[in-house]
Amino acid sequence: PTLRPDPLPEDQGGEDRALRPQGLGEFIGQAEARANLRVFIESARRRGEAMDHTLFYGPPGLGKTTLAQIVARELGVNFRMTSGPVLAKAGDLAAILTNLEARDVLFIDEIHRLNPVVEEVLYPAMEDFELDLVIGEGPAARTVRIELQPFTLVGATTRMGLLTTPLRDRFGIPTRLQFYTEDELFEIVSRNARKLGTPADDAGAREIARRARGTPRIAGRLLRRVVDFALVEGDGRITQSLADGALTRLSVDNLGLDGADRRYLTLIAENYGGGPVGIETMSAALSESRDALEEVIEPYLLQQGLIQRTPRGRMLASKAWRHLGLAPPKTQNDLF
Ligand code: ADP
Repeated sequence: PTLRPDPLPEDQGGEDRALRPQGLGEFIGQAEARANLRVFIESARRRGEAMDHTLFYGPPGLGKTTLAQIVARELGVNFRMTSGPVLAKAGDLAAILTNLEARDVLFIDEIHRLNPVVEEVLYPAMEDFELDLVIGEGPAARTVRIELQPFTLVGATTRMGLLTTPLRDRFGIPTRLQFYTEDELFEIVSRNARKLGTPADDAGAREIARRARGTPRIAGRLLRRVVDFALVEGDGRITQSLADGALTRLSVDNLGLDGADRRYLTLIAENYGGGPVGIETMSAALSESRDALEEVIEPYLLQQGLIQRTPRGRMLASKAWRHLGLAPPKTQNDLF
C-alpha cells in the first residue's frame, strides 16, 4: 500500500502523462544537471552497475519526479515510487527494498520528511545494499541481515536544509534544480500547446512563459486554463491578447505573481513598513504554514529580487515597492 508505482492523481488525466518529457533529450532546461546525468547514466550502463544514489533538490514543480522517471527509463530499469511521509514504519521501507530488482530506481519524494526510524534502515541499504531487520520483541528479539539487490535511490526534496547530514552524505550525486528561464518555458509551452492541439503563436506562448513563475508545472496549469479560454471565448488559437486576458482573469499578474504572493508582499509593505519581519509572524498573519511560505512562496520572490532574507527577517526590495505601486519609506531607499 505504500508503493506508488501508479501515476500521481494529478497525472491521471493521461493528458499530463502525454506532456511529460520521456527521455533526457526531450527534457528542456536544467542543462547542467542534464549533461551530468547523461554521463552518470552512460557510465552505469557500461559498468552494468546501479547508478550512484542521486538527490534532486529545489522548489516544487521544477521536474524532480520527471527526471527520476527519465533516469530509470534511460537506465532501462524499473521505477518504483514512494514518499517520506508515506513510509511510516521500518517494515514499509523493507517491503519495498526487498522487492527491488537489480539496478532498479527507487524514488522517494519529500525525503526530508522520513521518520528517523525508517531513515536508520535506509543507511545500510544505501551503503552496503543490506537490511538489518529486528524480528520478535523483548529478550527473544534478534536481528537478521538481508542482502538486497544493488539499486539506485533517487531522493527529492524541496528543503535541502532539513535533510540530516548522514542522509545527505550518502548521496553521490546531489543535483540542484534551478528555476527555468523564460526562453526554456517558452519552448515547453509551445510544444505542449501543439500536443494539446491548441497551437499558440509566439507572442501567446511567451506571455504564458513570462508569467509561469519559472516553473514548468505552473506553465502547464496556466496553459490549460488559457486553452479553455481560447476554446470557449476565442477562436481556438492562443494569441498574446487572449493569454493576457485569461491570465489577468486568473489573477496572475505581469510578473507571474498570484494572489498569495501579492498578499505576502502587501503584508510586509503595509503592516511592517517593509520589514524586517520574522517568518513566524508572517506565517501567523497570513494563515499559511511556515513550510508553505519557505518552500513555495519565498524561493521565487527571492529569485526575482522582490524580497531579501536578513538575520532579522524578511525585507521588501525596492522592486517590490514598485511592483505594488507603493512608495518605499525613506530609510528603505537608502538600503537598496
Ligand atoms: P517536481 O517533482 O519537482 O515537483 P515534476 O517532475 O512533477 O516536478 O514536474 C511538474 C510538471 O512539470 C509535470 O507535469 C512535468 O511534466 C512538467 N515538467 C517538469 N519539467 C519539465 C521540463 N523540463 N519540460 C517539460 N515539462 C516539464
